[in-house]
Amino acid sequence: MMKKQNPQFYEQVTSKLGGETLTKCFQCGTCASSCPVAKLTTRFNPRLVIKNAVAGEKERILVDGPIWLCCSCYNCQERCPQGVEIAEIMYALRNIALKEGHLPKAFIEMASNLMVEGRVVPTSAFTAKRREPLGLPPLKETGIEPLSKILSVTSFSKTVEKAKEVAK
Ligand code: SF4
Repeated sequence: MMKKQNPQFYEQVTSKLGGETLTKCFQCGTCASSCPVAKLTTRFNPRLVIKNAVAGEKERILVDGPIWLCCSCYNCQERCPQGVEIAEIMYALRNIALKEGHLPKAFIEMASNLMVEGRVVPTSAFTAKRREPLGLPPLKETGIEPLSKILSVTSFSKTVEKAKEVAK
């Protein structure tokens, strides 16, 4: 068995839902060849994420951020000959990353917009004006107050603040 960079991290992943299937991977690459994201960018390869998780390569997975590119289509999981629950493992890795404050800057921005405006993409007078010629109705109010309560009680706001600190 290969030497683990960070055995605690490996234990952490295998204790999560789906994580117990991690060790079944025999690196056939079916997941990577089924992945629509891997077809578009070399930055994401599910086979490599699984390989690095087995090796306990925590920094490479959590800090470099490939896990955030997964689009959760489940193609990999459906086709894996070993029954590795790859999509569930991606969620587990994201949860571990978030707990430690690792979130890509683009997501931090979207999350911050959500907290302030109730939308992940901010609106402007310019974008509002462009809706009319396209036959789109005016945007509705987002109801920021109830949303803020939900974001607060679910610790979403705290998590985003921590990610902002880590990203500095
Ligand atoms: Fe491993 Fe399954 Fe991907 Fe093959 S398809 S590399 S066994 S996770």
